[in-house]
Amino acid sequence: NLILSFESSCDETSVAVVKNGRTVLSNVVATQIKSHQRFGGVVPEVASRHHIEQITACIDDALTEADVDYDDLNAVAVTYGPGLVGALLVGVTAAKTVAFAHQLPLVPVNHMAGHIYAAQFEKTIEFPALALLVSGGHTELVLMPEPGKFEIIGETRDDAAGEAYDKIGRVMGLSYPAGKEVDRLAHIGQDTFHFPRAMDKTDDFDFSFSGLKSAFINTVHHADQIGETLSKEDLAASFQQAVVDVLADKTVKALNAYPVKQLILAGGVAANQGLRDRLDEELKQFPEVAFVKAPLQYCGDNAAMVGAEAYVGFEQQTFADSNLNADPSLEFDWIKGETA
Ligand code: ATP
Ligand code: MG
Ligand code: FE
Repeated sequence: NLILSFESSCDETSVAVVKNGRTVLSNVVATQIKSHQRFGGVVPEVASRHHIEQITACIDDALTEADVDYDDLNAVAVTYGPGLVGALLVGVTAAKTVAFAHQLPLVPVNHMAGHIYAAQFEKTIEFPALALLVSGGHTELVLMPEPGKFEIIGETRDDAAGEAYDKIGRVMGLSYPAGKEVDRLAHIGQDTFHFPRAMDKTDDFDFSFSGLKSAFINTVHHADQIGETLSKEDLAASFQQAVVDVLADKTVKALNAYPVKQLILAGGVAANQGLRDRLDEELKQFPEVAFVKAPLQYCGDNAAMVGAEAYVGFEQQTFADSNLNADPSLEFDWIKGETA
């Protein structure tokens, strides 16, 4: 089974060829980060225009690198939400066009489900599974009782973890997106600031990062006012320790409440080394749970993860027709098969 998959929900134009939902034959990612950096975040109109400029070359490169032809393909897949509507539309339109021109079935993919399925490039997902999904726009604990079913048992009440990384990075003068650099600095510094761990002890699986972000910003502004220079490394280490503490504590709590076969770590923030190491430690308490981390190169947005998730949709015959539209606020609670 060969699927040509598309991802254009934010600032990465990506096209991949994935075999049996497990093997990446090609994964072309054209990033636009340079164009957005001077604005300190993603500008939707700029993103859409870049997707349009890049997508055709990405398709050609993905097919060439995988050494496959349109005739070899079994399906086309595309992220249709959540994300920026104008950005999503470019991928959706391209995928529909290829599917129509080559008479291939079209598999619609939820971007967040795609992030989770990136784990499958490490190990086949076994059910029931629990996913800690941490990205630029989402921070969720997702229970997966069986293939194609996703239940959010906890989520952030305000900022996403990645969003918090990017915002405090900006205050530190780092370029967007700041997560990777904060992670690097954190490994050099110490937790000297002891920022608040919001909702760490609450009786639920939810998160909150806006209080941490405010505490961080206040600390930096106060130091600026009195002319004091703070250690960037210690600031980063203190912030990261606070984030990792609450993510790890709520994940452990969820593992105690839901007996699962696997814990999956996925999404852009899953690339965080501090978080990966901490969960490695915590999972020693759960010898019966396999800890499956999305491989580093598939944590951020990419089309290979879309191809991995689409294999499930293909098996379940969840196909879309030419009416498929972008859904910027798509949620998990869609029922597989409904779009057929
Ligand atoms: P969503 O998937 O919720 O729609 P998105 O697609 O914009 O949002 P991703 O591409 O999954 O987000 O992840 C990008 C985020 O990951 C950014 O906020 C970035 O700072 C963060 N990130 C990347 N690497 C690291 C790291 N090592 N540590 C912490 N955060 C990181
Ligand atoms: Mg991105
Ligand atoms: Fe994403």
